[in-house]
Amino acid sequence: MTLFQPKASHFVDGAYIEDTAGTAFDCVYPATGEVIAKFHSATPSIIDAALNSAQRAQKQWAALMPVERGRVLRRAADFIRDRNRELSELETMDTGKALQETLVADATSGADALEYFGGIVSGMTGETVPLGEDFAYTIREPLGVCVGIGAWNYPTQIACWKAAPALACGNAMVFKPSETTPLCALKIAEIFIEAGAPAGLFNVVQGLGDVGAALSTDPRVDKVSLTGSVPTGRKVYAAAAEGLRHVTMELGGKSPLLVFEDADIEDAISGAMLGNFYSTGQVCSNGTRVFVHNSIKEQFLSRLKTRTEAIRVGDPLNEDTHLGPLVSKAQLEKVTRYIEIAKSEGATLVTGGDAPRVNGHEAGFFIAPTVFADVTDDMTIAREEIFGPVMAVLGFDTEVEALTRANATEFGLSAGVFTKDISRAHRVAKAFEAGTCWINTYNLAPVEVPFGGSKQSGVGRENSKAALDYYSQIKSVYVGMGRVDSPY
Ligand code: NDP
Repeated sequence: MTLFQPKASHFVDGAYIEDTAGTAFDCVYPATGEVIAKFHSATPSIIDAALNSAQRAQKQWAALMPVERGRVLRRAADFIRDRNRELSELETMDTGKALQETLVADATSGADALEYFGGIVSGMTGETVPLGEDFAYTIREPLGVCVGIGAWNYPTQIACWKAAPALACGNAMVFKPSETTPLCALKIAEIFIEAGAPAGLFNVVQGLGDVGAALSTDPRVDKVSLTGSVPTGRKVYAAAAEGLRHVTMELGGKSPLLVFEDADIEDAISGAMLGNFYSTGQVCSNGTRVFVHNSIKEQFLSRLKTRTEAIRVGDPLNEDTHLGPLVSKAQLEKVTRYIEIAKSEGATLVTGGDAPRVNGHEAGFFIAPTVFADVTDDMTIAREEIFGPVMAVLGFDTEVEALTRANATEFGLSAGVFTKDISRAHRVAKAFEAGTCWINTYNLAPVEVPFGGSKQSGVGRENSKAALDYYSQIKSVYVGMGRVDSPY
């Protein structure tokens, strides 16, 4: 059933384009294991065409007034909203995530980004610096051609979160989706053209890591923005550094969530469940180390077990389903391996841990939402990013102890705290070594708020006004008003 077959693998210079010389790969629907589309990885000639067209389009695009660029982005946002159902179904086919989620979280957040950056870019002005008689002024200029490289967990959102600030600032983009989820970004490319963007402004080239690597090292590229794992981030950062290219790195995490004894326990459980099971656990910012004060741990675990067992795992296209499958067979094997390691290292399985049978979807990559208790800091599941619906619950006694343990990781993407003590909430948020923190909620990432990681979890920020700094550069112009004072 290649029902979702696009016209061709790549979208370059405003049109679909194919080169069958590229390595063939399949797009698999995670709920059934069926091949739903076939692709070819980009060859050097496709990469070349994409970069050349991006260079051409960028010059034309940067010459527009910001308000004109913004209008195109906002029109694209409107088209995305109009087609939310169609795009959400495609997101579900690409990733396996439940339609109940994709209808509200993916295309819509992509549209938010385009609307936001399309709106604020005309307010992005330089400054005037008085210098006595002389003065200087600054101009914010685009970087040029940006490369976006995406992970597979949010293919629509990642494409839009990268394209929106990049294009708003006057750059062009060549985007490489993960080869696991090649479908969604192509639709976004179509929509940009429909909204009036010049051909070549947003190109999509498919492929594996080698295509991403070829893009990251090409002299025509001025910036690389990656969403991916820490090991890939290190490689891409190093490759970009060779050419002194700008980078944004949105990488992985092993984020802590602290639940104090005075927390609203039902809200804290909701936060922990959203921060571990949403998108079948495949969210970079997930709070996968849930530290619960020992005085409320048993009560927390008992309610968590009941509520977790009420989660409906099943056909992701059924809107009653809470949890779809994992994205791929490889991811299912990886998550299953971590569950086995947790058991062998002595963690207590509270619930889940197995692969539920879903009628009509026997070959899907399903896994039950899983909770482990009695997890200790040295266990593998408390140290490594699993990227599946596997929650590790750890006990603690004091705030200082919890914070020390929460921060004892190379990652620094996110962190959360549930408490009713207002001073403690802010004290803990300040002490977290993480780029994105939540108090009495978890995993909300609206476009107005900067998002990104510290430590090994990333470089730079997406979303908010902060993202403009990562897609533009400042030119200073000194204006001499008098005679040149020269000793020669
Ligand atoms: P990977 O790091 O495996 O891949 C990310 C992207 O990089 C893919 O498109 C991949 O291609 C490409 N790639 C791989 N090697 C290279 C290379 N040498 N040069 C250039 N590009 C390369 O991540 P996953 O796709 O497995 O995604 C999961 C990871 O993403 C998790 O660690 C997660 O935490 C992180 N993530 C971070 C987010 C954030 O905002 N901080 C948000 C979402 C996810 P391909 O896979 O097609 O071969």
